Amino acid sequence: MSPLNTGISNCRNVASYSFGAGTLSTLPGHVESLKKDANSYVIYYIDCYFQGSSALLNGLALNPEDLCHFVDSSNEPTTSLVDEYVKSIRSAKNEILPVAIIGLGGGVTMDIAKAVSNLLNNPGTASDYQGWDLVKFPGIYKIGIPTISGTGCEATRTCVMTNLETGLKLGMNSDFTVFDRIILDPDLSATVPTDQYFYTGMDAYIHCIESMNGSYRNAIGDAFSQQALALCRGIFLSEDMQSDDNRASLMVASYLGGCAIASSYVGVIHPFSAGLSVVLGTHHCIANCIVMMAMKDFYPQAYQEFIEMLEKQEIRLPSGIASNLSDAQYEALYNSTIIHEKPLTNALGDDFSKILTKDRVIRMFQDM
Ligand code: ZN
Repeated sequence: MSPLNTGISNCRNVASYSFGAGTLSTLPGHVESLKKDANSYVIYYIDCYFQGSSALLNGLALNPEDLCHFVDSSNEPTTSLVDEYVKSIRSAKNEILPVAIIGLGGGVTMDIAKAVSNLLNNPGTASDYQGWDLVKFPGIYKIGIPTISGTGCEATRTCVMTNLETGLKLGMNSDFTVFDRIILDPDLSATVPTDQYFYTGMDAYIHCIESMNGSYRNAIGDAFSQQALALCRGIFLSEDMQSDDNRASLMVASYLGGCAIASSYVGVIHPFSAGLSVVLGTHHCIANCIVMMAMKDFYPQAYQEFIEMLEKQEIRLPSGIASNLSDAQYEALYNSTIIHEKPLTNALGDDFSKILTKDRVIRMFQDM
């Protein structure tokens, strides 16, 4: 059986969403409608970037019984961090479960909300569910509110976590990981720094490039990809990629890119990017952009277009981050790249390891 045969042609989409500037204001009323009695409470995971943002926090109208965690999004989620959150909720609330879990932030924050939601209703630890369709019971009702666009996390059936003990960076791929509701409010991405906006936005572009160039295709996934790519081209080849209209468009491109990848697989870029994240701690979105610089042979057209977007937006990528490492580090980079059997099979076929020999992989890292 092909490793790509994991049932993802059965797609579950986000159950409901609201879109438009100012739609965050619909959240408090929605949350109240979920509460049943005096013990009902909600858990908020909020990117620590907003910790001092009193206007935003007051607008959420938290109640004293609710739990609020500010997430340090400079570190990508680990399985042990997710386990710690779950343990602390169980002890703080004496096994009473929340009526909703809300993730407000970027991919890191939303992924934590997804993972904690699933684990509160399933036994065991986060690492037990790294893989495909291992989650047995629906998680707690979850709401995703992206504040930066591109990862598509608001749409996907995964939440990426790294297991530091095994080096495995893999999500809980499950229908139960999909958000029950998302709020796409472009006002929330108004203060994203320019570089960050570009790197994260490129994640949407890259998901669709990989998906469209793979062997595992379907018409719906392609349609999502085509529209997301058209939006990305409009945004990143324009004069002001962060205009009000472009920020709204990128929220849509991110969502569509997430839908595309939920019904397909990534390709060569994400495995290399995961290698950089696991071995050197490079963040996902900037790692993708760095990897793009070594993708001329694999995605020649996208490579050219990516360079054009970099130049148009005057973004300067770091270079040489893997040019001078130890043998052990190169070995680790190779291993944490080649381990991604499904996307590499999607991009290069069953014999991907003959194309991506150890020497070639190491040379590509050295060239980034
Ligand atoms: Zn990605």
